[in-house]
Amino acid sequence: MKDAFDRTIDYLRVSVTDRCNERCFYCMPRGYHGWSCAQDRLSADEIVRVVSDGASLGIRKVRLTGGEPLVRKDIVEIATRIWELPGIEALGLSTNGTLLAPLAGELKRAGIRSINVSLDAIDPEVYHAITGGNLQPVLNGLAAARQAGFEIIKLNCVLLRGLNEQQLRPLADFAAANGHPLRFIELMPMAGEFDFAKHYLPVETARRILDPEATRLVPDPNARLGYGPARYWHDQTTGARIGFIGAMTTPHFCESCNKLRLTSDGKIRPCLGREGEIDLKSMDNPAAALRAAIANKPVDHTFLSGTHQEGRPMTAIGG
Ligand code: SAM
Repeated sequence: MKDAFDRTIDYLRVSVTDRCNERCFYCMPRGYHGWSCAQDRLSADEIVRVVSDGASLGIRKVRLTGGEPLVRKDIVEIATRIWELPGIEALGLSTNGTLLAPLAGELKRAGIRSINVSLDAIDPEVYHAITGGNLQPVLNGLAAARQAGFEIIKLNCVLLRGLNEQQLRPLADFAAANGHPLRFIELMPMAGEFDFAKHYLPVETARRILDPEATRLVPDPNARLGYGPARYWHDQTTGARIGFIGAMTTPHFCESCNKLRLTSDGKIRPCLGREGEIDLKSMDNPAAALRAAIANKPVDHTFLSGTHQEGRPMTAIGG
């Protein structure tokens, strides 16, 4: 389906839970207890019903996310059932990788084709300082994913001034050595109490850190890896692909947006960075909610004017 700005909407990000086993300060505010009195609010049946209705409206690509999607016990069942739906052509997963090692083979057999693993640092202490978690299980998860043979295994690193500037080059070298495309993501001012101004680091600064002499990174405007907004560059020294997701600084960032989001508590969000959700419960059926979300999809996010959010941190939306 097309939205009011002639964008084809064919991609649904499905947050299967807002729970997470890590504590990245920019994603989950300290003391967040959104889930504390409830199970995952949408059941597997409900999630599959929404995706099925989406497929009938032209959704072709689905990514499972959270929170941390692998904390859900029925994640393999959810993936399997979505992949079996007529019309679904691509199924991906975003994960912190900590629980991936024992599940990688099952997830591949369930139909997942591409995996994005968050990796904000390759030094265990820096990793722990940012996420509250341990690096080694993530490295084990990545190794298991490579072994399982996923088509694409990308690494995602959120740029954090004062925390991971020194990690950018080591991360890029790790990604190159293991054959992973790596994307650097600008911090977005999601709801929560973190000090955005203190930690925000633009993608342009990251490029200068990675390539101070401007001798090795060249833009690769035709590179497409997946269906997201990353702009890719080619590292002539290592041959690696490095993507930059500049939600805050890239002009016309939203012009090619193709997404809707389903939150784990049953809301359809037309835009990550602007208020406005459609409650599935308020509509006759999921198809009506999806149609309303497409009709109401705004032209762009409002991160820059600061009116983007109403108390929903990233973990409660699905990044
Ligand atoms: N738990 C999974 C993971 O770690 O990838 C999936 C959910 S997480 C919300 C998805 C992505 O959103 C991660 O790459 C995370 O770093 C990113 N993210 C979370 N909060 C963000 C923020 N404030 N700005 C930019 N990216 C953010």
